[in-house]
Amino acid sequence: MNKKLIIITIFCGVLFLGLSLFFDNKKLRVDFLDVGQGDAILLNLPQGTRILVDGGPDNLLLNRLGEVLPWWEHKIDYVVISHYHADHILGLIELVNKYQVGEVLTTAHQPDDFLYHILINKLKAKNIPIVFVQAGQTFDFAKNISAQVYSAESDNEDYNNNSLVLKLDYLQTSLLLTGDLTTEIEDKLVKSGLDLQADLLKVAHHGSRYSSSQAFLAKVEPKFCVISVGEDNDFQHPHPEALARLSASGCQMYLTESFGTLSWQSAGQAWNLLD
Ligand SMILES: [Zn+2]
Repeated sequence: MNKKLIIITIFCGVLFLGLSLFFDNKKLRVDFLDVGQGDAILLNLPQGTRILVDGGPDNLLLNRLGEVLPWWEHKIDYVVISHYHADHILGLIELVNKYQVGEVLTTAHQPDDFLYHILINKLKAKNIPIVFVQAGQTFDFAKNISAQVYSAESDNEDYNNNSLVLKLDYLQTSLLLTGDLTTEIEDKLVKSGLDLQADLLKVAHHGSRYSSSQAFLAKVEPKFCVISVGEDNDFQHPHPEALARLSASGCQMYLTESFGTLSWQSAGQAWNLLD
């Protein structure tokens, strides 16, 4: 065997090993990216489907994605937009320049404001299909994983209440993504009879005092509560009252401002926090 062939063989072997370690095809991985005051959550599903929920307030998103993805990966199958506030969408504008995005899933809310138009025009320019989802819709993104849309309002005056709420079930583990929902919609969900139980909860609206009601948390029964929040933000997030309710619900709390990016993994039985 000549030298060149040996080098190529070793390179292919290392690449294959790297790929197989990364695409652990039985595990669901959730990275709550530390994007400061905002939300950006990356889901790597078993069998490789990749979903990004929101994009944070700026281009820090790209750095954070680079930290959790291998350098050669620039593909995101689905981008989910919870709602059209700057701290959830601004990072997406540059994302579509650097990453290949398959499809955008969002609510039918089409606010007549500057930011919305900038983002939508950008998505159109890149020929990225925009799919409007509705409450009750289910997506089978991967084997044994179903994602159900629990709320997708489009005409609430408070944009936060138009947040797309998504519940992901993977065998015995589940994840509830709440966007910036307030108690108004939480109450609706409590009364809906939907199965809100989720062992991993993305705390609504960065720990705002107007979210995470006791009644809502009693239905969710979270084990782990993640608050995506920036240090010294102008919004008093997280609010001590919300923190007290979360603590009383019995969940362990994790704040991105203290921990940085929080990465969780599930093989279907339990969530594990990665180092
Ligand atoms: Zn927000």
